Amino acid sequence: MTQTGTLTGAQARSLEPIQARTQEATGEAALGTAQETARPEADREGDQGREQDLRSATRLGMIVAVANQKGGVAKTTSVASLGSAFAELGKRVLLVDLDAQACLTFSLGVDPDAVTVSINEVLVVRGVSARDAIVSCADGVDLLPSVIELAGAEAQLLPRPGREYVLRSVLEPLRQDYDVILIDCSPSLGVLTLNALTASQGVIIPMPCEMLSHRGVGQLLDTITDVKAILNPGLEVFGILPTLYDGRSKHARAVLADVGERYGLPVLSPPIPKTVRFAEAPALGRSILTTSRSSKGARAYREVATSLLPRFQPVLAEHTG
Ligand code: ADP
Ligand code: MG
Repeated sequence: MTQTGTLTGAQARSLEPIQARTQEATGEAALGTAQETARPEADREGDQGREQDLRSATRLGMIVAVANQKGGVAKTTSVASLGSAFAELGKRVLLVDLDAQACLTFSLGVDPDAVTVSINEVLVVRGVSARDAIVSCADGVDLLPSVIELAGAEAQLLPRPGREYVLRSVLEPLRQDYDVILIDCSPSLGVLTLNALTASQGVIIPMPCEMLSHRGVGQLLDTITDVKAILNPGLEVFGILPTLYDGRSKHARAVLADVGERYGLPVLSPPIPKTVRFAEAPALGRSILTTSRSSKGARAYREVATSLLPRFQPVLAEHTG
C-alpha cells in the first residue's frame, strides 16, 4: 500500500539539513557529525529514523494552476517567469502549456508548428505518454508543449467518463520527477481549465491592478468552490498575483489595497511592475529572468517565487515492500 502525507512544519524544516548530511561528503557534513557527538542519544536516534524515512520515500512535487479566464492578465508571463525563478532556486520545474494559442510554448523558444507530440495527443490519444511530449528549454525548465489542435480537445474530452480527471492522471506520475509543476491555463472556464484545477494542489490567480480586472474573479472563485466540493477537495488558492502594476498610479495602488479584502484571499507580494521588458522576452524564446536579469520585473518574480517556497514543500509517498 502506498501512503501519502504532507510534510509537517517540523519535517519540512528538518528536510534540508538531513539531505545535506546524506548527500554531501563535505567539510560541513563532517562538522555536523562532530556536533552530533555532543547531542543526546535519543535526538540522534530520532534523526536516523527521519533519514531512513526520507531515503525510503519518494518526494512528490506540487502542481499549481495559474488561472484566470480573462486573457491578457499575465498568466503565461507569470508561468514562464516563476518557472525560471524556481529553476534558479534549484528546483526541478515542469511547465504545462494548456492553451491552444501555445504562447508559453512559443515564448520558451519552441516552435509549436514543429512539435510532434504535444499535450493535445497526451490528453486525447490513449496510450501516449507525457514523457514522450516533454522538451527541455533554455531557461532550465521542462515543457509539455501545446499546439493549435488543442482547441479541439475540449470537444473530444466531453463524452469521456471522468473527463475532468484526465490531466491529473497524466501529471500524477510526473510528480516524482519534478518539484514544481505549473500549468498555464487558457482564458476560459471550460473542460481544460477544470482539468487543471482538478489536477492541482494550488492555484495562483494573476490579476492586473486595474478597475475592470475584478470582473470575472468572482466567477472563477465560484468555479474553484465547485471543484473543491466535487472534484478536488485539497485544492487551495495560494493567492492573487497582482500584475501589470504601475506604482505611480493612485488608482492601481487603491485596487491593490482593496483586492485581498474584497475576495478574502492572500495577495502575493511584491506586485509585478508593468515594464516594457516583458514584451521583448517572448520573441527571444527566454523568460525575462534571463533576457533582463536584473530588471525590476525579474526581481519581483524572483521574490514572489521565494515567498512561495514554503507552499511547495514536497509530499512524501512511502515505498513499501
Ligand atoms: P495571458 O496569458 O493572461 O493572456 P500574457 O502573459 O500573454 O497574458 O500577457 C499579455 C501581454 O502583456 C503580453 O504581451 C505580455 O508581454 C504583456 N505583459 C505581461 N506582464 C507584463 C508586465 N509586467 N509589464 C508589461 N507587459 C506585460
Ligand atoms: Mg496566456
